[in-house]
Amino acid sequence: MALISSIFSRWILDSRGLPTVSCQITIDQNGRKAVGKASVPSGASTGSYEALELRDGQMDFGGKGVNLAVENINSKIGGSILNRDFGDAKSLDEFVLSLDVSHNKSELGANAILAVSMAAHRAFATLNNLELFQYLRRLYFSALPVTNKFPRLMCNVVNGGAHADSGLAIQEFMIVPNTGNIEKDIQMASETYHILKKNLKKDGHSISLGDEGGFAPHIATSIEVLDYLQKAITDAGFDNISCGLAMDCAASEFYNKNTNFYTVDGKEFTQAGLTDFYAELESKYPIISIEDGFGEDDVLGWQIMTKKLGSKMHLIGDDLFVTNPERFQKVGLNNQIANGVLIKLNQIGSVLETCQMINDAKANNYITAVSHRSGETCDDFMSDLAFASQSEFIKLGAPARGERVAKYNRLLEISDLLN
Ligand code: PGA
Ligand code: ZN
Repeated sequence: MALISSIFSRWILDSRGLPTVSCQITIDQNGRKAVGKASVPSGASTGSYEALELRDGQMDFGGKGVNLAVENINSKIGGSILNRDFGDAKSLDEFVLSLDVSHNKSELGANAILAVSMAAHRAFATLNNLELFQYLRRLYFSALPVTNKFPRLMCNVVNGGAHADSGLAIQEFMIVPNTGNIEKDIQMASETYHILKKNLKKDGHSISLGDEGGFAPHIATSIEVLDYLQKAITDAGFDNISCGLAMDCAASEFYNKNTNFYTVDGKEFTQAGLTDFYAELESKYPIISIEDGFGEDDVLGWQIMTKKLGSKMHLIGDDLFVTNPERFQKVGLNNQIANGVLIKLNQIGSVLETCQMINDAKANNYITAVSHRSGETCDDFMSDLAFASQSEFIKLGAPARGERVAKYNRLLEISDLLN
């Protein structure tokens, strides 16, 4: 018998200084106790189809308080799972999911359900004397061939969009190391990041940071930013084979529904025009991936882009799919758009469903990129998830700031555990 012997939630602060939900669960198996702790992230450029992040909307924290979600864990979820026996974290997830019959977790809050889910997976891993990534593999990814391959890093070094006041429409400009060795990849990310900082400073640009730890200089165009990235890679002693580039456009944020235009770098683009713009960037720079190149409802835009660029690069859906297997089927597979799925635990709100999404994507030959959010804590669950699921990429912000480096450092720890 493995009984849930305690569950406790409270709010803690995230990297933006806003409250988020944390949870601690203890499992008691014949007097042997295993504890699991977790805290959940929060987005800024949130997709409309994401599961509901429950916020109080009262005076506290400018409406951003999470007391309702915390209370839902301590009373409603706690009251239902306390002293109950679950064989594993998956059955616990199934049970907790059954407590909220809404379509978007609006009854209990995705932030509440996810905090419980993550903490439970950690507690069960400990109970089984396994590392979290080993436990996730056993529960969800046992059908995959066993490999110790690490995901490639997507390191967001210049921040725009909703994450900074740089004025850049495109939200994320990333470097993507490719040495085949996780330690070397992380070193490359760090060295390139610091050269970029030096180069920006030398040219009189601000080196203040955006939400994901990348720089937020007031640079007018995407081309200029990409030039800076290219130069930083070269100055750091690397080339485009060992280090590629990627962008997350988060295009829903610069799409005008009324005019049907996308505004980037001060210019208005049609769907075909924006695709040509991306194609031009792809021809000039070693861009291997574009995320959310079109808006979350713009199937036509996605189709045009997929036709033109789908064989050349990864086209990843974030707001488009919101880590939701149903939406992936309906929007992605039915319309044959994109070729990759961004994976964010809090978009769907449970570990179980997140892993289902990863397996669905893989079964349909879509690559997966496990991602942080712009609002983070030092919780490093996503690193175990990215490794366990053999995702092709992990998107974890800049190699700076505590809440970002926690994820990088967990990858290093995992690599040590394998030796
Ligand atoms: P968000 O941004 O966490 O603010 O949604 C990250 C992303 O769009 O990938
Ligand atoms: Zn995104």
